[in-house]
Amino acid sequence: MTEQAEGKRVLSGMRPTGKLHLGHFHGALKNWARLQDGYECYYFVADWHALTTDYGDTGLFGNNVIDMVIDWLATGIDPARSSIFLQSALPEHAELHLLLSMTTPLSWLERVPSYKEQQNRLEGKSLDTYGFLGYPLLQAADILIYDAAFVPVGGDQAAHVELTREVARRFNHLHGAPVLTEPRALHTPVTKLPGLDGQKMSKSYNNSITLREDPGQVEKKIRTMPTDPARIRRSDPGDPAKCPVWQFHELYSDDETRQWVREGCTSAGIGCIDCKKPVIESVLAELEPIRKAAQPYVDNPGEVRDIILEGNEKARQTAGATMDRVRDAMGLSRW
Ligand code: SF4
Repeated sequence: MTEQAEGKRVLSGMRPTGKLHLGHFHGALKNWARLQDGYECYYFVADWHALTTDYGDTGLFGNNVIDMVIDWLATGIDPARSSIFLQSALPEHAELHLLLSMTTPLSWLERVPSYKEQQNRLEGKSLDTYGFLGYPLLQAADILIYDAAFVPVGGDQAAHVELTREVARRFNHLHGAPVLTEPRALHTPVTKLPGLDGQKMSKSYNNSITLREDPGQVEKKIRTMPTDPARIRRSDPGDPAKCPVWQFHELYSDDETRQWVREGCTSAGIGCIDCKKPVIESVLAELEPIRKAAQPYVDNPGEVRDIILEGNEKARQTAGATMDRVRDAMGLSRW
């Protein structure tokens, strides 16, 4: 590890998908906010990454960036403690990506599990592009340029951190000096919250609750959530294991309420509307402070823009120092 990374710097990013939902909150943002207590955090809007799969969609940016960062701020990402910045505002990421591409074997990229998986999953899109193959290397550059000591990971991203370590090792070996810092995966507890239909929560599946959703709308969405299909009539017993509402109880309810659900559902002692009431209350209680915290930023998006601009400048200092080391190591002259 180089001297620069003796501290505990963490880096993570998110593609600008606009308003975030409860799945993002439980799966990432709560964790990001917690990490601020023990680490120096760099959180970035990964807009170039969005282009690797949605290269034809220029509507991705602009308001989407602001809307997403409002949700970061409203859920406790604190610009006084974390650098919040925009990937495309720092061309240094692209320069490091290019320089690393000179030494990264193609086979390393082809064997990243998400390469084939995503090509299969996003079948309707033409992903046989240079940019899509190279996106794990762009991600490696995102990490290495900030000397990040840790990258929070859940599941499949562990392979990306491993690739980043290999890329750094190869670069350092070729140039005979510890120029780049090998990051480590930081396995952190995250909670998976499914969508209203039990699938992964996603805006494109139309099964999400956004963090600033109107309370009446939240209530309506939960009231009309599908339940165990075997419970056609109120008198039919059900099985919580086959019901997406149960997964919400697992996250939000205490033992006593869960026991009430288990007994009431399997004996048809309670109806699904009764069962959903505590979930509605918990979700509304969770979202209320987020909505309130977001409002001043919604009213004044210029403030969000300023926070990002300031974060860009902080990030530029660190990225610039790394690029000086990289260019020196490669013998690139500075003109
Ligand atoms: S009672 Fe609750 S757990 Fe059982 S099917 Fe209805 S909503 Fe689902």
